[in-house]
Amino acid sequence: MCKSPYVKCPSCYTVISDPERKLQNLAEPAPCCGDTGHIRISWPMEDVLMFFEIVRQQDLNETKDRRIAIVFVSTMLELLLENVLWELLSAHTKSLQLAESALDSYQGRERRIKLYNRLSDHSLRDFFIQHEFSSLLNDWEQLAKIRNKIVHGRYFAETTDALDERELIQRITRSCLQAFFVLHNDAVRQLNEQKIDSNE
Ligand SMILES: [Zn+2]
Repeated sequence: MCKSPYVKCPSCYTVISDPERKLQNLAEPAPCCGDTGHIRISWPMEDVLMFFEIVRQQDLNETKDRRIAIVFVSTMLELLLENVLWELLSAHTKSLQLAESALDSYQGRERRIKLYNRLSDHSLRDFFIQHEFSSLLNDWEQLAKIRNKIVHGRYFAETTDALDERELIQRITRSCLQAFFVLHNDAVRQLNEQKIDSNE
């Protein structure tokens, strides 16, 4: 299974980059809030790492494998976004059921991005541009178009597309964890600001 360099603080939910795995030592204070003694949460969720592994095993020069990779990378990105939406929803509603029904009524990539834009204090596009991940957003759009063709049986790969698609998949898998790490922590910031507001 693919390993992630990130862990989530169990106390303040900030995601921390810990490539040397120093935080496996529970006496090591978390850099976000100084928390010690609590097991750090894996981030991203296991399903995302499993999809990463499936994508890694594909031979991207083969059309069949590339199709599998495209579908799984798309699902992986949607899961990463869903995870951020959970954080934002918990800032807006204390009820798990309300959060679940909000997610249920915003299915699919475009509607989930819309939900993000409604809940967050900035749009996803602005955020990615500001943090220099705008190419990821464009790549994601392109990937989603190909993925939709695949799942609706309208995908007929031209040999000229193969290189582009391979590079598209590689660019996304290289940058997506870092982008969602930054996005996740921004959602945690918004969550904390809401808490401060409601205490005032
Ligand atoms: Zn913390």
